[in-house]
Amino acid sequence: MPPARSAQPAWFDAESTRLIGKACARCGSLFFPPTVEYCRNPRCGSAELQPQPLAHRGTVWSWTRNHYRPPAPYVSTDPFEPYVVLAVELEHGGLTVLGQLSPLSAPVEVGDAVTLCTEQLLEDEDGIQLVWRWTREVSEQTGVTA
Ligand SMILES: [Zn+2]
Repeated sequence: MPPARSAQPAWFDAESTRLIGKACARCGSLFFPPTVEYCRNPRCGSAELQPQPLAHRGTVWSWTRNHYRPPAPYVSTDPFEPYVVLAVELEHGGLTVLGQLSPLSAPVEVGDAVTLCTEQLLEDEDGIQLVWRWTREVSEQTGVTA
């Protein structure tokens, strides 16, 4: 069995649990997902973009519960279970990224601190594919949310 691997290696490094964005070499603007080909800063426009690991912690900016099964290639539970999607403002750089809340996480509210975690998306003949999800930070010492 091949080792577990990121389902989107250009976007997510499962080994370090880091999202991978792009940073403009000229003005420092950050982008995620890393599919941009040129800087979107209207005063820059440089094509010198480099892969950039992003912060693995952030704050919930908004969230919603999705009650509809997204179309393939989305992988969902059977029967389908609604899931929470978060908009998270990353700790450094002010970038806000979307992602799912782990089904194992405590519920979240706007302003809660969250951390990236790695979870299994699926297992097939090619092995285990891993994805990122967010989980609410809880203090291990007090059991009180961060
Ligand atoms: Zn730029």
